[in-house]
Amino acid sequence: MYPEYLADTIVDYDSVNATGAIMGSGGMVIMDETTCMIDVAKFFLDFTQKESCGKCTFCRIGTKRMLEILIRITEGEGRDGDIELLEELAYQIKDTSLCGLGQTAPNPVLTTIRYFRDEYEAHIYHKKCPAKVCKKLLTYEVDEKNAPDVPFAPETVRPKP
Ligand code: SF4
Repeated sequence: MYPEYLADTIVDYDSVNATGAIMGSGGMVIMDETTCMIDVAKFFLDFTQKESCGKCTFCRIGTKRMLEILIRITEGEGRDGDIELLEELAYQIKDTSLCGLGQTAPNPVLTTIRYFRDEYEAHIYHKKCPAKVCKKLLTYEVDEKNAPDVPFAPETVRPKP
């Protein structure tokens, strides 16, 4: 995953790889500011974690630990040090995995940390989801000044004869 300022990146294997993303099957998804990048990283890691055959310890268990951290962060339980822990696990998984699945599974997390670190910090330190996607980080308040008139308020309702 890479940000808008890299939108002119040539779509070939080497150029996309240089951003930290991967070509995959060649599909491209464009996301706007209403997408939470941590939620997206969680989605991709959930997929690869389930696809892991389990042969390599770091791919089997490391992806699980990373997913748990992402879930915590998106549920408002992120802690100081989580970003660094995610990076440490990610590089260990990449370095010790036998096949391409494990070697690339952490990429969505690494690229979102690299390009959208402020979103991680907003979730962890301010308990806010800038894209307003993570439900546990949302708060609602009634703006009474701009609230519309309530039709059929109790005093306007007449009992039936
Ligand atoms: S890296 Fe490949 S071989 Fe190793 S556990 Fe993951 S899926 Fe299996």
